[in-house]
Amino acid sequence: MRNSELIMQSLDQLFPDAECQLHHKNHFELLIAVVLSAQTTDERVNSVTPELFEMYPDAHALADAELSDVERIIRPIGLYHNKAINIIKLSKVLCEYYEGKVPDSREDLEALPGVGRKTANVILSNCFDEPAFAVDTHVARVSKRLQIADPDDDVRTVEEKLMQYFPKEKWGKLHHQFIFFGRYRCKAVKPDCSDCPLKENCII
Ligand code: SF4
Repeated sequence: MRNSELIMQSLDQLFPDAECQLHHKNHFELLIAVVLSAQTTDERVNSVTPELFEMYPDAHALADAELSDVERIIRPIGLYHNKAINIIKLSKVLCEYYEGKVPDSREDLEALPGVGRKTANVILSNCFDEPAFAVDTHVARVSKRLQIADPDDDVRTVEEKLMQYFPKEKWGKLHHQFIFFGRYRCKAVKPDCSDCPLKENCII
């Protein structure tokens, strides 16, 4: 069996139902949640978004929000000042150019305030079923340990190597499975290597 097939099979067995952990009900909520998730955990984001989305259920409402009100709600997640500025600005752009909707092209997404390549990839894959492989800290670490990428590769190179390594139709699912594997088994510190089905592929 090829290494890529072994990895896909093992992750299917370990995490058959891996999916986005950020709570959301629509494209707008997912976009805001992903922007808020920079340098914090999904759990923290999920702890503030219910109040945020109750007060500001769509881009039109958030575009008109007072900065201090948004800052108060998202304060627990850290970097709250810049994140509040970004999600209000982003909502204004959505209202001005996209009728309040989330655009479905990479170029348009990456032009939004606070949105980089990783966020665009998450939105393209989760909202629009576009083939994209978002690379976060878990995905990068697991890819390097499994020798899909080299230790010194930057995030963009890791993404390119993942896209070459796995078939396009699997990228979206694998993104979530890599995150689950990195979060619950192949942790940054003290990975749980007992019974790891990918031990033979691993540099550790
Ligand atoms: S053996 Fe340990 S470090 Fe290597 S892939 Fe498995 S869990 Fe991660």
